[in-house]
Amino acid sequence: MHESCGVFGVYSPNEDVARLTFFALFALQHRGQESAGIATSNGKQIRVYTGMGRVSNVFTEESLQRLTGHIAIGHNRYSTAGSSRAANAQPILVGNDGNTLGIAHNGNIVNATYLYEELAGLGYRFHGSTDSEVIANLILSCPEKSQIAKIQYAMRRLQGAYSMVIITPRELYAVRDPLGVRPLCLGTIDHGWVVASETCALDHIGATFVREVEPGEIVAINANGVTSYPGESSRRGLCIFEYIYFARLDSMINGKLLYIARQAMGAGLALEHPVDADLVIAVPDSATAAGTGYAQESGISVAEGLVKNRYVGRTFIEPDQRIRDLGVKLKFNPMRQMLDGERLVVVDDSIVRGTTTPSVVKILRKAGAKEIHMRICAPPIKYPCFFGVDMATRRELIASQKSVPEICEFIGADTLGYLSIEGLIKAVGLPREHFCLACFTGDYPIPVQLEMDKLALEAIGAGQPANVCDGNEK
Ligand code: SF4
Repeated sequence: MHESCGVFGVYSPNEDVARLTFFALFALQHRGQESAGIATSNGKQIRVYTGMGRVSNVFTEESLQRLTGHIAIGHNRYSTAGSSRAANAQPILVGNDGNTLGIAHNGNIVNATYLYEELAGLGYRFHGSTDSEVIANLILSCPEKSQIAKIQYAMRRLQGAYSMVIITPRELYAVRDPLGVRPLCLGTIDHGWVVASETCALDHIGATFVREVEPGEIVAINANGVTSYPGESSRRGLCIFEYIYFARLDSMINGKLLYIARQAMGAGLALEHPVDADLVIAVPDSATAAGTGYAQESGISVAEGLVKNRYVGRTFIEPDQRIRDLGVKLKFNPMRQMLDGERLVVVDDSIVRGTTTPSVVKILRKAGAKEIHMRICAPPIKYPCFFGVDMATRRELIASQKSVPEICEFIGADTLGYLSIEGLIKAVGLPREHFCLACFTGDYPIPVQLEMDKLALEAIGAGQPANVCDGNEK
């Protein structure tokens, strides 16, 4: 399961803003590795530099030195809407002299095709195939003079998830959709301001967390300081997977350290699904904290049983068939001496299609595990995500097709236990109404056409996300 992008913005007259953005993007690399980019402004002109691959592959000392100015935005991309190619790398720059803006976006716009057709009909030209370019042109298309009015116009028309940073020659804006599906936070740095998808980016560059950008809010940052334009909606829909999987362990969301939330998920699993076992191991890295929580609550010892090969990520080098057949072995190496003859509790963050878990069970059995009791932090995922998480179509989701005992048999475990929705909410420590739980419940916080799957999205939009806003409001 993948999320779609990390964003960062900085307004600081006394900093090398391109370099700060570069290091902040490093901290947000886990949110996307397909492309990276930075745009800067010196008060008159916006420059942008983007490329395919990870931050360290994209930028050189020379490219950073050319990105001068006191305002910058940056982006790490994982594509969910629009294919993985250079034209879709962000920040995206639109407009011309006197009316230029750059945008870096995290999320997914569900009515982007409709808006795309409207804007294309008005003569707006598109260079890539992302919903982010639709947002940028939508803002540009508003005849209002004030930038805030333009952004507010776009927000009234957009449906879906967007946490984004916008750069104009003189200003930086941070914008979050009315449900607050994706995180976005505000901080200070010396005499300037920063905005980031996650607090870990602030920590790494020596910035101080101030607060979250509220759902529906626009934060404008310029030479006069920070001005907030609050939103009106009281409904909330933060993606619960930020807590389970996406955000980094050392980030804080809504005042809660992710590590603590994940430990509590593991403890909840131990309470809901106790088992007689010798050793708790976690599938690294995202379930490591939950494994510790399970062990603490159950009193069973915890150890590392699988070592993750951290440098096998997305790559543009296609493996040959023999290497592809190795599958999960490329990613995880079991330590036989730790596992041989043991009755294991194996904690993982989620089961989506059910393609990886059977291989994990298999390699653990091959390494000598006597029993395998899978414990999963996310409740059964039965519905697809329309808000920027590259998950699966409904028919590919194993929990939409099989019961828990059937899944247990399919993955080859001795027992299988999922954390309940109530247990998950308790671990996160906020009321249920704060979250989007749609992939467990089917109760989408904005209207979507439930049966429209990702294949249909691609077919209809030729790379553009489809308009899935018709009916079925819940
Ligand atoms: S549907 Fe699931 S993955 Fe998508 S935003 Fe909601 S909780 Fe997150």
